[in-house]
Amino acid sequence: MGIVEEVFTIELPVGESFRIQRCRYTSKNEEDSKRISIVSGIHGDELEGQYVCFLLGEWLRQNPEKIRGTIDIYPAINSLGIDSITRSIPFYDVDLNRIFPGSKNDFLPAQIADGVVNVMRGSDLAIDIHSSNVFLREIPQVRIAKSQEETLVPLANLLNIDFVWVHDAVTVLESTFAHAMNTIGTKTLVVEMGVGMRLGKAYGHQLLDGLLNLMAHEGILEIEPLKVRFPIQSHVGEVAYLNAAYPGLFVPAIEHCQMVSKGDVVGHIVSALSGEVMDEVIAPIGGMLFTLRAYPIVYEGSLLGRIFGKICGDSQ
Ligand SMILES: [Zn+2]
Repeated sequence: MGIVEEVFTIELPVGESFRIQRCRYTSKNEEDSKRISIVSGIHGDELEGQYVCFLLGEWLRQNPEKIRGTIDIYPAINSLGIDSITRSIPFYDVDLNRIFPGSKNDFLPAQIADGVVNVMRGSDLAIDIHSSNVFLREIPQVRIAKSQEETLVPLANLLNIDFVWVHDAVTVLESTFAHAMNTIGTKTLVVEMGVGMRLGKAYGHQLLDGLLNLMAHEGILEIEPLKVRFPIQSHVGEVAYLNAAYPGLFVPAIEHCQMVSKGDVVGHIVSALSGEVMDEVIAPIGGMLFTLRAYPIVYEGSLLGRIFGKICGDSQ
């Protein structure tokens, strides 16, 4: 059975403490030395990963004889944020995923980042599960920095996700958990799926199958690899962004995850006060609507959706 441990504690001035817990499942055979860390809750308002952690823990409890390595589950990294329904670290208003690798001799958020890195140091693999934010809904996808493409894409392809997005927004990525871990030799994949503050059962089960498949391939679980979907690869197409031209109430006309054609109406921006339709949001390219706004109030420039369009011979 898994062992629940408190791996990291910082005393807070108010007499409380910040703590990170994990549940560790290990093989009885000491030669099984591979280690994977399953991580969620770096953002306190993202909860889909907690359900994945539950499903994986439940599976491991039922199949302990299949374990051929060490599997660590960290469902709630920003535990203060989760307890107070806050994305960032409460009181500091700092996004934990923007201050890695952190430092012991800095303010609390940096100490937390440093502690997280040190606890997970030595893992062969890490899966960092995010669920977008409260504004946008995402299909299950892995996002990879261009510099890590060769190492990480083959692993991402095992995860039963829909989309692998390789991109090169380097400046932001350097301060993330994934970048810090990849730098010290832990192959770390960032999963984005679902929407903030909610739980989607189907996506949870989809990623569970992906995790089991990955661990089967890596020899951490002694099971047959699962039949998983092969994700669409971002390099075969382009990503188009839909941004609001007016403030108002965004009313989608198309469901998330649908295929759209160039020129389709994705939604409308309306005025609740005057009853007018302010703008029609048109798909600039054809493809898959992989991101869709979930929070209806928008401002000029707000992201409404993203479409991934395949580049094909006859341009549509
Ligand atoms: Zn996140």
